[in-house]
Amino acid sequence: MTFPTRLETGYRSFLGETFVRERGRYERLATGQRPEIMVIGCCDSRVSPEVIFDVSPGEIFVARNVANLVPPYETSGKYHGASAAVEFAVQALQVKHIVVLGHEKCGGIEAFMAGGEPLSSGDFIGNWLSLLRPAFANVEKKGDFAQRRRALEQATIELSLTNLMSFPWVARLVERGELHLHGAYFGVGDGVLTVRSEDGEFRRLVR
Ligand SMILES: [Zn+2]
Repeated sequence: MTFPTRLETGYRSFLGETFVRERGRYERLATGQRPEIMVIGCCDSRVSPEVIFDVSPGEIFVARNVANLVPPYETSGKYHGASAAVEFAVQALQVKHIVVLGHEKCGGIEAFMAGGEPLSSGDFIGNWLSLLRPAFANVEKKGDFAQRRRALEQATIELSLTNLMSFPWVARLVERGELHLHGAYFGVGDGVLTVRSEDGEFRRLVR
């Protein structure tokens, strides 16, 4: 099996240029990471937090999943990838900020709204996206499909922030002012980043 050529080409370029230039940084990072910011984003190939925020290795701790969801806190003994990432970031790394980064034209959210057939017998996506249901209740009547999708994309960010507060140690640190939760929304076509204000509105970070 051939390793993907695009990745080999990219790695050669990284090794010959970036790694050489940033060698000191990588050597320092090899002793450990201390990122102060966690970003919870979508798997979508167009929405890479490291690219959007122009950060270097070691600066942000990133967890990506379909539709940038955080499930409610529950310890059912099943496998909780998203919750484990939050736990590691908060408890072990002691990050100061968690940013939930949603985006325009999210395929996961669109699939949920379209309510199509399950993709597989296990249908992991359908089950995962059922987390969106509480957010959907508020946006069902908001205009045409595109407007409802945008409303749901932003409501999903809100839902993930609410669910984060259901983790007892997250709520405790937020109440103490030692951890700050943020919502952000990225427009793929125009590059506009809006950030959730206290009143729940999303406003441009940079004008
Ligand atoms: Zn997405």
